[in-house]
Amino acid sequence: MAKTLIKGGTVVTAVEQMEADVLIDGAEVVALIRPGTIEIAAETVVDAKGCLVLPGGIDVHTHMELPFGGTFAADTFETGTRAAAWGGTTTIVDFAVQTKGQSAMEGWEAWMGKARGNCAIDYGFHMITGDINDQTLKEMELLVREGVTSFKMFMAYPGVFYSDDGQILRAMQKAAEDGATICMHAENGIAIDVLVGQALDRGETDPIHHGLVRKSLLEGEATHRAIRLAELTGVQLYIVHLSAKEALDEVISARDRGLNVYAETCPQYLFLSLENLGNGFDGAKYVCSPPLRDEAEGHQERLWQGLRTNDLQVVSTDHCPFCMGDHPRFGTQKQLGQGDFSKIPNGMPGVEPRMSLLYSGGVVAGRIGLNRFVEITATTPAKMFGMYPKKGTIAVGSDADIVVLDPNGTQRISVETHHMDVDYSAYEGWEMSGKVETVISKGKVIISDDQYLGSPGDGEYIARDTSRYNI
Ligand SMILES: [Zn+2]
Repeated sequence: MAKTLIKGGTVVTAVEQMEADVLIDGAEVVALIRPGTIEIAAETVVDAKGCLVLPGGIDVHTHMELPFGGTFAADTFETGTRAAAWGGTTTIVDFAVQTKGQSAMEGWEAWMGKARGNCAIDYGFHMITGDINDQTLKEMELLVREGVTSFKMFMAYPGVFYSDDGQILRAMQKAAEDGATICMHAENGIAIDVLVGQALDRGETDPIHHGLVRKSLLEGEATHRAIRLAELTGVQLYIVHLSAKEALDEVISARDRGLNVYAETCPQYLFLSLENLGNGFDGAKYVCSPPLRDEAEGHQERLWQGLRTNDLQVVSTDHCPFCMGDHPRFGTQKQLGQGDFSKIPNGMPGVEPRMSLLYSGGVVAGRIGLNRFVEITATTPAKMFGMYPKKGTIAVGSDADIVVLDPNGTQRISVETHHMDVDYSAYEGWEMSGKVETVISKGKVIISDDQYLGSPGDGEYIARDTSRYNI
């Protein structure tokens, strides 16, 4: 197999920071070498002088081609994983979907079919269990054996993905038995739908009302309920896209009681706010659930604090893009909600800029340290979802998924230059400190000199183990 040497950089993991050359043989890291001590012959040499050499990013929350809100998320597995690679992400965990009346196994197989041969980077799946019944409970066990070791449930979206407390309890009991994780969208969807109806009756139809009716209290309430149900069953619970300080308080209290409860947040909840939902229909760009929160209420500051104190363990994206104009294949998207905010497809593009936003707005801005940046973007996601130590670190024997980031480089985020298949950026014009220069996926250089060198099908399915975060 061909050898690659990453030379002259500073290797950063979740705990270490060292001057070292990284030797890759085939798809694996085989040595970390003190510079100048051993002469190594390698077919490919990546010059990393002055750069940071980081584990490839892992985004454990993406929705490529998700059918939702009467259309499909605009990125396919091909365009979405390529955009991820451009941004320094080398692994995603996407969500396969079981709809009402469908078998979970068939849902997973359908999503495997969409991804197979199309991905630029490695991928795994969580399973959205949208119909908990006796058969689904049996299938959960089969799915765990296939490497789908986490199941997502919704306390939001009645009539779509929603599960009631009884269904959630049953799924949690089963997941606890199998060592699987329950991922929860924690918003009280039944109460929210009442508030949505009342707002529309008052003629409040603009996107801003999406943010106003989906109360942070109702995210806190659902988070509390999910935690109590998890406590009954002993299951590992992972709250997805936590946005509200009320929800964070519940997670902190659960962790203080010693429960296996974790949570992620997303860049949009750290860097954007309710204000983005204003400005007429332009706010539709920022419609996602839970919604962006009011900065004056202190949510964003509390989320940063939670990241520092490890009450929040992961930052993923919930990448789920919909176009403002017509999408060439999927047609009308955000415009479906003209005159009725509740019909705006929920979701934002984010898989590409995640690493840049967190490096620039987190590390450079002094909110988190460099090791912590690696931990929340790669190491913990890998441990939490059963991929460590193949993924999530730079160590002998781990996959050679590596990002070379130039801390002195800069980058301007724009729809003109991004690679996601969506017609706007949520961070248009933002100037980022630091630039991803080279991306290596399992030993293959896929981004170099502002060029994509990979091909669809480079990425392979990851049959994930159960969580290793807590042991
Ligand atoms: Zn999601």
